[in-house]
Amino acid sequence: MAIEKKKYCLNCGTVIQGRIDKKFCDDQCRNTHNNQQKSFSTNYIRRVNHRLKKNRNILESIIPTGEELAKTTRDRLVRDGFQFKYFTHLYETKKGNIYYYCYDFGYLGLEGDWYLVVKGKEV
Ligand SMILES: [Zn+2]
Repeated sequence: MAIEKKKYCLNCGTVIQGRIDKKFCDDQCRNTHNNQQKSFSTNYIRRVNHRLKKNRNILESIIPTGEELAKTTRDRLVRDGFQFKYFTHLYETKKGNIYYYCYDFGYLGLEGDWYLVVKGKEV
């Protein structure tokens, strides 16, 4: 005999009658919940993409036209709205230096509060 345990609808919180593997009281609750989850994910992804692109554009703006790299300070990056926690990938050199990339632009932390910003190749 199965142990009876109270289950609550993930959408409205009502106690669910019937099968133990049910998560929602009805199809409407299931649909509402799934749509909310989906739009939460979509908004989150959109927000992260936006921040990544903004970071990338800030890095691009630091390198003078026609050049491949430039040095800048943490202050300037932060002032421009750069958010260090968002990056697309890492690149580690043989020496063990780690470049953080936002798409095709990357940066490397230098001594003090300095950063080297580089225009990357397609990875
Ligand atoms: Zn419900």
